[in-house]
Amino acid sequence: MTPPLTMALAGNPNAGKTTLFNHITGARQHVGNYPGITVDHKEGRLVHRSQPITLTDLPGTYSMTAYSAEELVARDYLVNERPRVVINIVDASNLERNLYLTCQLLELGAPLVIALNMMDVAKDRGIEIHADKLEELLQVPVVPIIARSGKGTEKLLDTALQVANQEHKWQSRHITYSDDIDEAIDEMVSLIEQENFLTDLYPPRYTAIKYLESDEQLLTKGGNNDPASSSLLTAIVDNISNHTLKTLEVYPESIIADHRYGYIRSIVRQGVMSQNHDSDRLYTSDKIDKVLTHRLMGPLFMFAIIFILYQFTFSWSELPVGWLENFFGWLAEVAEATLPDGLMKSMVISGVIDGVGGVLGFVPLIMFMFFGIAILEDSGYLARVAFMMDRIFRIFGLHGSSVMPFIVSGGIAGGCAVPGVMATRTLRSPKERMATLLTVPFMNCGAKLPVLALLTGAFFSEHQARYMFFFTMLAWVVAMLAAKLLRSTVLRGAPTPFIMELPPYRFPTLRGLLIHTWERTWQYIKKAGTVILAISILLWAMMTFPELPKEQSAVFSSERDTVIAAYGETVAAEVLNAEKDNLTGNAEQLAEELAEIDSREAEASLKNSVAGRIGTGLVGISWLAGFDWRTNIALVGGFAAKEVIVSTLGTAYSMGEVAVEESESLGKRLQSDPKWNKVSAVAALLFIMFYAPCFVTVVCIAKEASWGWAAFSVTFNTVFAFGLATLVYQIGTLLQLG
Ligand code: GDP
Ligand code: MG
Repeated sequence: MTPPLTMALAGNPNAGKTTLFNHITGARQHVGNYPGITVDHKEGRLVHRSQPITLTDLPGTYSMTAYSAEELVARDYLVNERPRVVINIVDASNLERNLYLTCQLLELGAPLVIALNMMDVAKDRGIEIHADKLEELLQVPVVPIIARSGKGTEKLLDTALQVANQEHKWQSRHITYSDDIDEAIDEMVSLIEQENFLTDLYPPRYTAIKYLESDEQLLTKGGNNDPASSSLLTAIVDNISNHTLKTLEVYPESIIADHRYGYIRSIVRQGVMSQNHDSDRLYTSDKIDKVLTHRLMGPLFMFAIIFILYQFTFSWSELPVGWLENFFGWLAEVAEATLPDGLMKSMVISGVIDGVGGVLGFVPLIMFMFFGIAILEDSGYLARVAFMMDRIFRIFGLHGSSVMPFIVSGGIAGGCAVPGVMATRTLRSPKERMATLLTVPFMNCGAKLPVLALLTGAFFSEHQARYMFFFTMLAWVVAMLAAKLLRSTVLRGAPTPFIMELPPYRFPTLRGLLIHTWERTWQYIKKAGTVILAISILLWAMMTFPELPKEQSAVFSSERDTVIAAYGETVAAEVLNAEKDNLTGNAEQLAEELAEIDSREAEASLKNSVAGRIGTGLVGISWLAGFDWRTNIALVGGFAAKEVIVSTLGTAYSMGEVAVEESESLGKRLQSDPKWNKVSAVAALLFIMFYAPCFVTVVCIAKEASWGWAAFSVTFNTVFAFGLATLVYQIGTLLQLG
């Protein structure tokens, strides 16, 4: 059989790459209405006219600079793999912007075929595109297609095969960038050719342009490869930079970009596109955008929409959350009644049922939240949010593209920092990316929600939704300030421009919404079932072992014997056999005294356990923020996974209880505990919101950045959170706000 031909699919985000990829390979990839969904490149196989083909779906990029991880992935792939054809998918309804990437692909010298996609959208908008004219001017084959329906894809593949079978020399397309720059390029090219500088990788002209654009990756490669020639080239660049700065007050980089746009504009204006002016109407999307992204009304709508999402999530999920709680309560009762007393029983109830139940209990809430986010995402509104937020994000040294990571991490509440950290891959500049990556864990992820709900419910029950909203806003404020701090210290650097096309509004399909909701909910459940189960058993073990020494439990046993002896055997038998609620007189008194002893024993044994020792040890400093040793245990557990904070608090506060069916809800128990009040609740909340990310997130940060940054994140957040909690607790206590 003939060996497979390699083809790559390149294009702007949202141009329809994945749709085309799925159509011609038959694969099922995630198709989104949000720019930047595809992060890693994906491969698919197909056979066309008995020629096997390997097709790679590259990450969507607006350009081929070294600004973002995505752009580097795409560029490195093209340079290292040298696919036989690059299918450049271009959104016909946004021709000019899309051709910017085409221009850069031509500069790289890649063998191109242009797939002119979204011809239906262009037509709906009254835009007529003359593909043959475009083909003639660009000197590249152009095939109009509609990826969604597959129209034109056969012809596209035929053309791609034709190009693949031709001899192709990777040669940079000649575009003029003004006399000054062109002169410098010529000088550089002759030097590059003479020294064979990186010529095995790039066409000489391309290397020269990249040097002029101060492309970090190329500068590093060149510097390592041939330092002497590299510095000769940088000298030429410095020279011309000085000149352009003096004469035009800009760097060569901007001049080059301007001329690329000029080149594109001139092509498009030469009869490639004609607008159907007699239908001089506003397209529906534009009409909607007039309102939804309006300078003043836009943000108001945005806050209103987010607030409604909130109310929806919390009020509608209340009922099913209650059902699940009851179900796990019932399960615990069944286990209590059927399992023999001992370690096994304690593990099943305190470790497995409480731990996993605590997590699964919130599935409805998370599902409602994700459903809401899916509506925003699939309709195209989320992209508008990013667009509007860019103005604000910029102030804090972030970027409009940071919004998605923040929202995914729990910016609207619910969510998870793990995908949030991964979503930062779509950010352009490394510094903005790092700042985003380090601050997304401040958001209220789905795992922090239960704690928030518990504490606000217990101490601020009247206005719970309002408080939850406040704490979400607070998370944003703190994250922004932290980002600003990072961007003006360790991550100092210039901002990068924001170009994001707003995809047209589309009516979300129910099927799409359900798939999105389920995918994310399932991720959450899987995490609960595996990592959290293991951790909650581990924590149970830490809270159980070492067991109380024999002498000490003997003391409690003899106390019990003494009390029983005082009341007599008959009363004791009554206590053992009757339901607790039905006890009267002496029997009731005995039961209470016994319960009091049990409770002290449980407390002594928790204190004696590994977790108790850590918790007690930390009281030395944690008292500053008002945390007692039980809270400390939960917080230490929370580092493993925030989900376990509530369940650990539950365990720590229930171990002293008499029997499962007698225990009141954890919220009530905290309310009546003398160590807890409004001030300590807020201090604990703040600490939980901002301290070290859970270890899964930390591992992700390490993978995306480095272990050094991961360690930085843990330390920075914990110190910061503890400072904040201490401040609030001390001042609040001083003012007697509790
Ligand atoms: P990618 O970011 O380039 O991978 O783009 P996607 O394949 O995810 O497509 C973005 C959106 O455009 C999706 O909602 C697609 O359904 C839609 N889309 C793709 N091709 C076409 C087309 O030819 N016509 C129309 N009307 N929509 C399309
Ligand atoms: Mg895609």
